[in-house]
Amino acid sequence: MSATDLPAREAMEFDVVVVGAGPAGLAAAIKLKQLKPDISVVVVEKGSEVGAHILSGAVIDPIGLDNLIPEWRDDDAPVRTPVSSDRFYVLGPSGAVRLPNFLLPPLMNNHGNFVVSLGDVCRYLGQKAEALGVEIYPGFAAAEVLFENEAVAGVATGDMGIGKNGHHKSGFARGMELRAKYTLFAEGARGNLSKALIGQFGLSQDRQPQKFGIGLKELWQVTPENFHGGLVQHTMGWPLDNGTGGGSFLYHFGDHLVSVGFVVHLNYRNPYLSPFEEFQRFKTHPLVRGTFAGGKRICYGARALTEGGWQSVPKLVFPGGALIGCAAGFMNVPRIKGSHNAMLSGMLAAESVVKALAAGRAHDELLDYEAAWRSSPIGRDLWRVRNAKPLWSKLGTVLGVALGGVDMWTNTLGFSLLGTLRHGKPDFASLRPAADCNPITYPKPDGKLTFDRLSSVYLSNTNHEEDQPVHLVVRDNALQKSSEYDVYAGPSARYCPAGVYEWVEEGGNPRYVINAQNCVHCKTCDIKDPNQNINWVPPEGAGGPNYPNM
Ligand SMILES: Cc1cc2nc3c(=O)[nH]c(=O)nc-3n(C[C@H](O)[C@H](O)[C@H](O)COP(=O)(O)OP(=O)(O)OC[C@H]3O[C@@H](n4cnc5c(N)ncnc54)[C@H](O)[C@@H]3O)c2cc1C
Ligand code: SF4
Repeated sequence: MSATDLPAREAMEFDVVVVGAGPAGLAAAIKLKQLKPDISVVVVEKGSEVGAHILSGAVIDPIGLDNLIPEWRDDDAPVRTPVSSDRFYVLGPSGAVRLPNFLLPPLMNNHGNFVVSLGDVCRYLGQKAEALGVEIYPGFAAAEVLFENEAVAGVATGDMGIGKNGHHKSGFARGMELRAKYTLFAEGARGNLSKALIGQFGLSQDRQPQKFGIGLKELWQVTPENFHGGLVQHTMGWPLDNGTGGGSFLYHFGDHLVSVGFVVHLNYRNPYLSPFEEFQRFKTHPLVRGTFAGGKRICYGARALTEGGWQSVPKLVFPGGALIGCAAGFMNVPRIKGSHNAMLSGMLAAESVVKALAAGRAHDELLDYEAAWRSSPIGRDLWRVRNAKPLWSKLGTVLGVALGGVDMWTNTLGFSLLGTLRHGKPDFASLRPAADCNPITYPKPDGKLTFDRLSSVYLSNTNHEEDQPVHLVVRDNALQKSSEYDVYAGPSARYCPAGVYEWVEEGGNPRYVINAQNCVHCKTCDIKDPNQNINWVPPEGAGGPNYPNM
């Protein structure tokens, strides 16, 4: 059946459609209803439930929650572990040097913050939103942006029941059109519709390229003697070399839970590097390995995060809609925090929508949202740290982080000697040909502290309908072989945290195998493929990880 023969989609009309039930989307939906209860608001979420696709550290700055739900401290909100101790180390292969807290810029101080599962916080926000009358549709990915007179007019959810080869299976059903006066895109880092809109409306034209990292995380239940509720620990250095940015986090919270994670900046150069194996190696360091003795790993996952900050935030608005949260890139890299800005940006956009609707407007640009963010708490948060990432990328970890620290100090005092530095090239352009790099040999997993990819993905509860088109769309297969494989030695097999990509030798010919059912929706392939030849599109609704509390 060709597209023109398909039955028409059913359409529903709303004042506002929100794409994505993360902190940004839910904060926007709640704020809209708080300001004007009779506005109709719908949120679509590709995870099987709210929180199922949320993966974060997370130590949260409560400024977003305080503004949105001032009574949250009297509620049974899943925000129960205040930070009690905050430590920062530089690691060598067997030793560690602790940086005294007084040396760190005050903006990096975590006292007053809380250790949480961001997935659980989103579940709490989802309940608050529904209580206010927001309609939330989990299990539905927004697959297409709808346009009317060149303005965004809503989204359509994907068709269901299409087989691997494009045929319609017996349960085939068309997606639904969700039409709105304004559509807010809250898809998080590297949202696929947001990426298309940024390109289509030229929103990043006079901005620095967005930068990204990949964050991998495990959740452990540890023994009582290894648990220190509220301890927050960060490291940089080993196992990464000085030219590769990244570091670890380790947060103790809840009922003997430890979130341990590792971030690798995606402007790394050596195609042999594997962020997954670096993470596994990190856990063997004497500073941290004891934490896991006798404990049990209960969950695993990965997600990209934005790192470009102030310089890379695109124009936020276009006719009929706006970008909010990490879809716009509001993550603060040195603080490793973005959820507070995600919430604040959702609220700021909601205020702008309410004003527009009250004036009888629709499908135009929310220019006051665009004008407001740089002088809002979000802008102030990102401005002071704007040079940290470019210095780290240009000068390496030791010198770059030290100078970045000095610049953050001077910015705290109200000035910078460096102005605003540029990021340079996008992350996909930073890989060097394999012939110019040394292969890296990683230790074998022991199955107790370190693991392989497949047993890890099992713990993400990832599930996709198998008979559906592959949602990792390789635009040009010949280019994948001649460049990704021949020049770069197949980095997708190493950067993908879920073992989706493999080059398999068949009679002397390498064949690209895509195990799409393992995909944890981190978006790294969409960012790091050296030719931008892989496009991540949403699989059939509800597919992907089912994180219980990441
Ligand atoms: C490893 C790691 C550690 C982090 N640590 C911290 C920390 O300690 N503190 C902190 O404050 N921040 C931290 N962050 C950043 C923080 O997680 C983000 O800033 C925050 O989650 C952004 O919120 P968001 O709502 O914009 O996007 P997300 O949280 O990514 O939520 C987006 C939602 O939209 C859904 N979605 C996406 N596309 C579609 C679509 N097309 N249709 C339907 N639904 C869709 C997704 O499934 C998801 O539920 C960390 C991030 C990572 C990856
Ligand atoms: S296929 Fe891409 S989006 Fe999916 S887990 Fe691998 S790198 Fe992440």
